[in-house]
Amino acid sequence: MAELEGFEFGKSDFVLLDEVTMEQFMENLRLRFEKGRIYTFIGEVVVSVNPYKQMDIYGKEVIDAYRGRELYENPPHLYAVADAAYKAMKRRAKDTCIVISGESGAGKTEASKYIMQYIAAITNPSQREEVESVKNVLLKSNCVLEAFGNAKTNRNDNSSRFGKYMDINFNFNGDPTGGHINNYLLEKSRVVQQQAGERNFHSFYQLLRGDTPETLRKLHLKKEPEVYVYTKEGAAVVTGSNDGSCHKAVLSALKVIGFTQDEIDSIYKIIGTILLLGNMEFENDGEAVQLSSADTVSHIAELTATEPESVSKTLLFRTVATGGGEVIEKGHSKQEACFGRDAFAKALYERLFGWIVSRINAVIEVKNYNPALHGKNTVIGVLDIYGFEIFDNNSFEQFCINYCNEKLQQLFIELILRQEQEEYNREGITWQHIDYFNNQIIVDLVEQSHKGIISILDEACLTVGNVTDTVCLESMNTKLGQHPHFTSRKLCPTDKTMEFHRDFRIRHYAGDVTYSVEGFLDKNKDPLFQDFKRLMYNSSDPVLKDMWPDGQLGITEVTKRPLTAATLFKNSIIALVDKLACKEPYYVRCVKPNEMKSAVLFDDARCQHQVAYLGLLENVRVRRAGFAYRQPYARFLQRYKMTCEYTWPNHLMATDREAVEAIVTQHGFEGDVAYGHTKLFVRTPRSLYTLEQERAAL
Ligand code: ATP
Ligand code: MG
Repeated sequence: MAELEGFEFGKSDFVLLDEVTMEQFMENLRLRFEKGRIYTFIGEVVVSVNPYKQMDIYGKEVIDAYRGRELYENPPHLYAVADAAYKAMKRRAKDTCIVISGESGAGKTEASKYIMQYIAAITNPSQREEVESVKNVLLKSNCVLEAFGNAKTNRNDNSSRFGKYMDINFNFNGDPTGGHINNYLLEKSRVVQQQAGERNFHSFYQLLRGDTPETLRKLHLKKEPEVYVYTKEGAAVVTGSNDGSCHKAVLSALKVIGFTQDEIDSIYKIIGTILLLGNMEFENDGEAVQLSSADTVSHIAELTATEPESVSKTLLFRTVATGGGEVIEKGHSKQEACFGRDAFAKALYERLFGWIVSRINAVIEVKNYNPALHGKNTVIGVLDIYGFEIFDNNSFEQFCINYCNEKLQQLFIELILRQEQEEYNREGITWQHIDYFNNQIIVDLVEQSHKGIISILDEACLTVGNVTDTVCLESMNTKLGQHPHFTSRKLCPTDKTMEFHRDFRIRHYAGDVTYSVEGFLDKNKDPLFQDFKRLMYNSSDPVLKDMWPDGQLGITEVTKRPLTAATLFKNSIIALVDKLACKEPYYVRCVKPNEMKSAVLFDDARCQHQVAYLGLLENVRVRRAGFAYRQPYARFLQRYKMTCEYTWPNHLMATDREAVEAIVTQHGFEGDVAYGHTKLFVRTPRSLYTLEQERAAL
């Protein structure tokens, strides 16, 4: 039993605190961290503190100890949650999901990998080949996605720069039959620019440092990241892992997953193209703009299987249809050409990443599953998504990420807090009302149609003419100035440097964040000249062509305006929340103990902040006020009637409720239950455990 470990390691469930105060919560969290107990329960939620050192707690013996056991039988662990989700799926045919949250560097991705390894370890005891192969692909996909989607940042050497939701499908035996990955908002601006001390995505350095001189020669690349504009900044930055050996692992993972050699070649040709593009410069030659290097143009043409003339034309001109239907070519200014080049590089990478994900999905997609024959196909979803971000300078990306966290918090409130309270009210059970902040008002502030921030941004992007970021902000001020969660820095007449409002502030559930509005409109519009799309669509490399279906459109064809980045993101997050909402949720809440990646430092202020915005205290309060288990009387009776002489084989009482009362009284846990209109509520899991044991012993 978790509680029986002894309190010298702190309390293994925050529910057991003497009093639910921030002080006691923090004291317990710190004590457990110092004693090497990185996991603690809040009921079924696991709170995890990043140990920043290898822990000997993930081996086979530990897996065996958690396998098939009840949550409260073992000390808190990720495996306990993974097993609970798995059991719910297998025994009750419930779709479940494990939501892993926390800020950058808190340990989400590591947790998601341990959870997947656990599931892989406990399934397919008969080692069926096709199941083994599905498991292998699921596990190997992590390595590939991390290479292309992770980067070293100042917060985390291996930071996921995209959100990931993975469904794992199971057959009636409880063995994995396939899966599906959804990715969210890859931080593509990183392809062309990184902050001081940060790197581009791992894949660039891995290719340059890990591949053979022969391959690099074919790609027209030098092996030093220092020589490329896009990788120069982070070239000297050391990370925890070795790029060269990682590259070999990625190549091998790609093969295991089923990428063909041609596909793998195309992937790295695109990486090479991006590096070469970054070094492409433009020179003013009188009126016109020229390319700095013809060699680079022909190398890019070779790698993308296009013609050098087309490449240089696309970099220097854009085709526009005039009002009269005439098609003309308009030369770029130097600035436009640079902008076009960077937009192209970012789009190439983003589409490459999206294509890799869809290619993996094609392999792991469940095939030939016949529910009539095989029973219900159940799912466990694992969500590893960026946590709340407050930086010194917050931009469009933080705005999207923080909006996503508002949505997930809303889901948490919906699922855990509100539903609990509503059910108690419905069942006529008295309990103490928990005051919590419902953040729906902030979700609305961002996403409401016509008057939310995203709508205002989109409207500004659609307006023809020169709508600047600051004009857009004025519009937000007019429409949202009165909103309790929105403020914008006021024009200060005495300060001549501040002529416009340049930032706005949202009072998020996790704290106030000031967003600098500069670049918002461009990032939202995310423009890419159609000429680049056409160039890629006309490539003779089938893999590349496949990534650019929208390049098919002719010049004069009227195209529907593509959705903006914020709206696309909003739609994907709404779809994600819908997916999660119909599953039974399990939560892992990750906390980062310090900024130094230290295994011994517990920074109280930093941790307290995270505990606050993860809503952990409210979570403990609800859990303490509430009941761990509930069951309709009839179902409870059916399961436990054999443990009581008055109910076996059938009871003679007037109602099922009375019969249940008889069972509860006979086992002596009257103090631990409440009787609702239709269900029995049990406060602590231990009472049920006793019944389960007795039932098993019969
Ligand atoms: P991001 O949001 O930036 O992707 P994250 O929450 O996914 O961050 P991780 O990449 O999982 O963070 O963890 C950061 C680092 O912390 C890991 O690279 C590893 O060094 C260490 N770490 C995290 N969890 C564990 C663990 N359980 N055991 C040992 N080290 C860990
Ligand atoms: Mg991560």
